[in-house]
Amino acid sequence: MYDIIIVGMGISGITAAIYAKRSNLNVLLIDKSAPGGMLNKIDSISNYPGLPNISGPDFAINLLNQLNDLEIPYKIEEVISLKLKGPKKIVKTTNNEYTTKNIILALGRTPKFLGLKNEQELLGHGVSTCAMCDAFFYRNKEVAVVGTGNSALQESLFLTKVVSKVYLINRRDGFRGDAYLVDQVKNNPKIEIIYKANIASLNSEAGKLDSITLDNGDTINIAGVFIYIGYTPDTKIVDSKLLNENGYIKVNKKLATSIKGVYAIGDCLNKDIYQLITAASDGAIVINNIEKTK
Ligand SMILES: Cc1cc2nc3c(=O)[nH]c(=O)nc-3n(C[C@H](O)[C@H](O)[C@H](O)COP(=O)(O)OP(=O)(O)OC[C@H]3O[C@@H](n4cnc5c(N)ncnc54)[C@H](O)[C@@H]3O)c2cc1C
Repeated sequence: MYDIIIVGMGISGITAAIYAKRSNLNVLLIDKSAPGGMLNKIDSISNYPGLPNISGPDFAINLLNQLNDLEIPYKIEEVISLKLKGPKKIVKTTNNEYTTKNIILALGRTPKFLGLKNEQELLGHGVSTCAMCDAFFYRNKEVAVVGTGNSALQESLFLTKVVSKVYLINRRDGFRGDAYLVDQVKNNPKIEIIYKANIASLNSEAGKLDSITLDNGDTINIAGVFIYIGYTPDTKIVDSKLLNENGYIKVNKKLATSIKGVYAIGDCLNKDIYQLITAASDGAIVINNIEKTK
């Protein structure tokens, strides 16, 4: 039986494993796909301290090398069910069944996309789902934001500090976000709101986005489009009693769920800042908390 099984090998899960190993805990990592999680989908990272300009896949390889150096075991298998009650937790994967005293859920979340033809190809080449991560690449350029909720409003305001203009594309005639944010957006001279419009096509030149065409026929020249139509936390294996109304795992300040020995970290939590550094930070904190309960 393991001391800790960590489901998810994104930066949060891998950080937790590194701290667990250094605390002499018997740990196993499990992921259904390539180690590094979301990192594997990020073109370029420029806001992680000490690594001023690194590609996501290179960062993921660094993490994997660190796991191998520390001889931390991992399995590439999909977890399909969890039995969490009691002192012996059972983790069932497509290939095996493992038992553990503690389990850390580091499952991440997936951005929702518009479903346009070349959207995935242009991800990192003009299409983004993270203004805090990518705004810097669009300094003094014109960009668009798509969405009607708080994220779209907040990120539009954030972008105005860096870019020259934001076209906020709203498929409705109003916003779903908080009134004070709507007011700030409406009063910001750098933001032009385009109501009742959807993006019909993403137009590119030499593999980079250079304009969008709306379903009203207008074409707007922009260098980037930020899609804020929501995220889906990857928590389908988790009992709904442990989730909030949006599917994120509920934890207390110690990153513990309501079941003893069951913890959650990283982007599968409801939090203010979804970044590599905050996900990594959760990984370190949770091991410290588990150690204290021993
Ligand atoms: C486009 C984009 C760009 C970004 N750029 C930056 C940036 O420049 N700087 C920055 O700081 N942050 C950036 N972020 C945010 C950052 O990537 C995340 O906050 C961070 O990677 C989250 O790490 P995590 O470990 O919580 O989750 P993830 O990295 O998502 O890892 C979760 C892992 O769990 C696994 N998993 C899920 N379900 C199962 C299952 N049932 N069985 C087995 N495995 C499972 C998944 O396969 C995945 O590997 C960006 C995000 C996006 C979407």
